[in-house]
Amino acid sequence: MRKRYAVLSLLVLSVLPVIMGCASANYNRDLLMGIVWQQESGEYPALCYQAFNSGKEFVRTLSTAGKTAAVLDIDETVLDNSKYAAWMVRSGKPWSAAAWEQWCNDASAPAIPGALDFANFLTAAGIEVYYVSNRPASTTGSTINNLQALGFPKADRDHVMLQEDTSDKAPRLGKIRSQGYEIVLLAGDSLEDFESFTRSWPNAERRTWVDSQVEKFGVYWLVLPNSVYGTFEAAIKSGYRGLSLKEQAQARLDAIEAWEP
Ligand SMILES: [Mg+2]
Repeated sequence: MRKRYAVLSLLVLSVLPVIMGCASANYNRDLLMGIVWQQESGEYPALCYQAFNSGKEFVRTLSTAGKTAAVLDIDETVLDNSKYAAWMVRSGKPWSAAAWEQWCNDASAPAIPGALDFANFLTAAGIEVYYVSNRPASTTGSTINNLQALGFPKADRDHVMLQEDTSDKAPRLGKIRSQGYEIVLLAGDSLEDFESFTRSWPNAERRTWVDSQVEKFGVYWLVLPNSVYGTFEAAIKSGYRGLSLKEQAQARLDAIEAWEP
């Protein structure tokens, strides 16, 4: 009898991980290579330095007499959130507003390579630095703390503009302009950091639009690399955000063009 129980227990124990594995597939594993690249490669910081060096070259050519401002996005432009994404991979937990807010409030994000030097360069050049981000406005205090701890200039409530009612950054840029500033440069990792009307476009349209704006990149618009997340993800398929995590993973797989040997 005891032997029969032992065999039964062994059977259950060997099947259980398979059942549990199916029930809790970790779709966040798709983020892994992007995170490894951001945290481990030398190419990632090299690209960041390249963007900011390009911005410096452009600023040196400017001869504006009036009040000038530069608008820097925060996430993956001046602050590195790869540890949050890495937590998602390790825990298998899906992105959530609550966990994201907790991460923001932790105020422990490191600086993006070259970002602090660039913000100081802008300030020294007499350009007012604004940080315009779609982090929730409730994290303003901790985001300022995070930026201040890293030494970022102008990290205060007048210059850190987070998301209140809309993710559209255009009204916030309008607010800066209404104070008499000419925005001479924008830096971001997402197309809507430059033109918010691209937010809801599918990727094919986004790429066509980018091809029509070639002369602005690395000049008026500094693009920072981010292969872990972005608007490009939902833009692969209409209704993507409403899909289950499993369906989203399938949509990503379906989106890629593959060679057929
Ligand atoms: Mg960003």
